[in-house]
Amino acid sequence: MTFLIGLAKRGKRIIKRLLKRYTKVYLSQVRRIERVKTAERVVAMTFDDGPCAEPPSPDAGGAASLTGRILDKLAEFGARGTFNVVGDTSENYPDEKGADGTPYWSGTRFDHYPSFGADALGGAKNQPELIRRMLAEGHEISSHGYRHIIFGESKSVYGKRESLGAFDAAVADLQRLHGLMEREYGCTLTLHRPPHYVDKLADGTTSYDVCEKLGYQYVGASFDGCDWLPLAAGYEAEVRHTRSGLAALLERDPDALCGQIIFSKDGFNMAHRSPVADGLALQLETLSRYGYRVVTVTELLRFSPLADLDASDALFGTVCELLNAGRTVAFADNTIRLAQTLTRGELLLMFAEDAAARRVALIKSGKRAAHDVPATHPYSGAVGWAAGRGLLPRDGRARPGKPADYALLDRILAARGNPPTGKSGRLSRAAALTVLSSVTA
Ligand SMILES: [Zn+2]
Repeated sequence: MTFLIGLAKRGKRIIKRLLKRYTKVYLSQVRRIERVKTAERVVAMTFDDGPCAEPPSPDAGGAASLTGRILDKLAEFGARGTFNVVGDTSENYPDEKGADGTPYWSGTRFDHYPSFGADALGGAKNQPELIRRMLAEGHEISSHGYRHIIFGESKSVYGKRESLGAFDAAVADLQRLHGLMEREYGCTLTLHRPPHYVDKLADGTTSYDVCEKLGYQYVGASFDGCDWLPLAAGYEAEVRHTRSGLAALLERDPDALCGQIIFSKDGFNMAHRSPVADGLALQLETLSRYGYRVVTVTELLRFSPLADLDASDALFGTVCELLNAGRTVAFADNTIRLAQTLTRGELLLMFAEDAAARRVALIKSGKRAAHDVPATHPYSGAVGWAAGRGLLPRDGRARPGKPADYALLDRILAARGNPPTGKSGRLSRAAALTVLSSVTA
């Protein structure tokens, strides 16, 4: 019991860190979407690790399956969820079950969902009825990895776990789930949440590189639904806990959840209980009392794709068009930071072609992009592109962190065959976006 309390406290810190994990600030094709800026009372709920054909635990309501219970509750409230599903964990053997109440409850070397030894009761491969029901009822399905193997090592939490380790292995795992969803269900995935939010792979690439390869955006979360955490006081307390934080927040500020993404589980907590089965209705009741609509993550992104820009901003339309065209204009933490100084590295990335693929190729070859830009630098691909077009200064230094100016912009425009601006001095982010929009329209 004492152990579980200690675990709950430690777990709370861990999940806070995971939800709010420091995202390096660099422009990226892939954005970690934790919340979006909107004044509307809309919120998204995400459910990880399902589908789950095991009944809830404990099963007071006599539900056929945990996922079925979640779908029933969402339907009752007219809510649409986003299910971060796995493909199948039955290949994750040999393995041993760890002790309940520890991060290894579902397996020592790998995760097994919904439970150790019961892999066939989970996974999109094994549970077509649950997946078809999700889709038929208007929910969104997002990728959580075929085998739910962490991409890189995570010594602090999952020190004993096997990881995919390299870019190609992670891409192959996601492609496998992508193909399954397309082939079996006609569903094209566009969103991904890495298992346990582990981003760094051993080879120097990251989950952002992997998402870019698949054409995915990264689904983070900004609010903890609290259904994953075992409490020493037991099931009833865990159920109440799923509502208390949410209710307290909305009592203080009824608009506090506008545009946020809630993290929940379509599975069991570390004590093999599923408070979501009874907690979800409490959460949905609370949200609807405050007039919130629960929408999918893709629907949420239609209110605004970014965390710090909405329709009230003059550049909103331009930025949305550029994002839709696949241009890299926003930061990996899903902000655009219009007031911030534009750097040379950022300017190159906004205009470069195939920057992400070039970066991965540089990492694999171990070559630098410039004297001052190693392969793993966030802008190495863009700098490599610029070097190939003679856009870097003679000394071979790209100076990616220095402020961008019109001279560099005009050199880029000339290399692309676009007319120069003829202006001089520092370049603002807004000015660069306007020029980018005019030449890529
Ligand atoms: Zn997971």
